[in-house]
Amino acid sequence: MAEPLRAVKGMNDILPPSVPRTERLPDSALWQWFEASVRTVMQRYGYQNLITPAVEPTALFVRGLGEVTDIVEKEMYSFVDAMNGDKLTLRPEATAGIVRAMIEHNALYNGPLRLWTMGAMFRHEKQQKGRYRQFHQLDVEALGYAGPDVDAEQILMVRSLWRELGLVEGRDVRLELNSLGQSDERRAHRAALVSHFEQHAALLDEDSRRRLVSNPLRILDTKNPAMQAIVESAPKLLDFLGAESLAHFDAVRAALDAAGLQYRVNPRLVRGMDYYNLTVFEWMTDKLGSQGTVCGGGRYDGLIEQLGGKPAPAVGFGLGIERLLLLIQELGIAAPSAAPTAYAVVPSPAAMPKVLLVLEALRAAGVSVLMHAGGGGMKSQFKRADASGARYALIFGDDELARGELSLKNLRDPNAPQRSLPLADVARWSSELVNA
Ligand code: ATP
Ligand code: MG
Repeated sequence: MAEPLRAVKGMNDILPPSVPRTERLPDSALWQWFEASVRTVMQRYGYQNLITPAVEPTALFVRGLGEVTDIVEKEMYSFVDAMNGDKLTLRPEATAGIVRAMIEHNALYNGPLRLWTMGAMFRHEKQQKGRYRQFHQLDVEALGYAGPDVDAEQILMVRSLWRELGLVEGRDVRLELNSLGQSDERRAHRAALVSHFEQHAALLDEDSRRRLVSNPLRILDTKNPAMQAIVESAPKLLDFLGAESLAHFDAVRAALDAAGLQYRVNPRLVRGMDYYNLTVFEWMTDKLGSQGTVCGGGRYDGLIEQLGGKPAPAVGFGLGIERLLLLIQELGIAAPSAAPTAYAVVPSPAAMPKVLLVLEALRAAGVSVLMHAGGGGMKSQFKRADASGARYALIFGDDELARGELSLKNLRDPNAPQRSLPLADVARWSSELVNA
């Protein structure tokens, strides 16, 4: 036999619940439930779906995210298209592609837009629990809105999604909030930051010494525990904000306060991309070890112009679907059952055309029916019926069919008597199954 191939390291199969898994990754039932919940919430808030390509010109991310970011420096899957020499990249995040698309289609011409998308992102990272090389995000963006109303709307929208999924904010996930101000405020802060880190140069790790020159703000984003003390004592950007930036921040906070949403202001919260300004936020959990950020976002008022569009403000966030579903598993929250309502037991293959006809009528009436296929005795068919999780078995025995009937057996209640139902009149009894 040929040697079987394996998936690329860090890229996972999302398997149906019935397939045993070696790793405890979320199954597709949890995934489906999450996606349905997202659609419900997006509909409620009036956000529209869009889908952009998984591959974009490399220049989009270099220009959009900033050259001195983890993503652009070392995490991108970039390659040269062998057909034409184009420099391409598997998207590491969704915002730049959405902004590119909206500029390309002149989409903001008729006013601002609220958008969402879901899909795979690619980053060449060290794979561990909650960190993969292909992962999935829900991405939400509001383009052309200056805030702070929409900033607050998006944060509350995430809370609404938590509630839809049975997560409790404050207990399972908590919100951290900060303001990055505007570029002149960041410049003044940056100067103070550089002088602080220069005074403690001996304590910096190699990465940070390099960033001191290229992008000192990112030193605050370090994951090195040995650096926590000097990061802790660094000058805080919040102390450099002017009246306008502070007013924006206060307005977001007032809206969250009014909505009864608890949060912590974290002055050291910076985000991994250069394009952020004013509001930034992260939803965190303690239950996933160091991969504790399940959702992060904020305002990026300069990005649209930076990518060649007419200047317009914007705000958005990305939510890591694997991390969130791992958390949901950890909390023991189960997806609603996706089992079929009925399982069709078909003892004689010759009955098939007739059986198919009845099953089609049932499905058209909204009953979910799994058909036994591939033959086999009654005993093995009933075993499959049990394993399917179906509530009912529909038995299409030869005797029943000869009478123009089928038998209905309740698989959950062994004391319920078996009943005969007419084949001709599916519409009359199918609603009873749907609503059971
Ligand atoms: P981290 O600091 O954990 O690397 P990040 O700041 O790089 O996260 P973002 O670019 O803000 O992450 O992406 C938004 C969300 O996507 C994250 O909060 C996280 O939930 C998820 N995410 C990011 N990178 C990965 C990855 N490699 N594997 C799985 N999920 C990820
Ligand atoms: Mg990262």
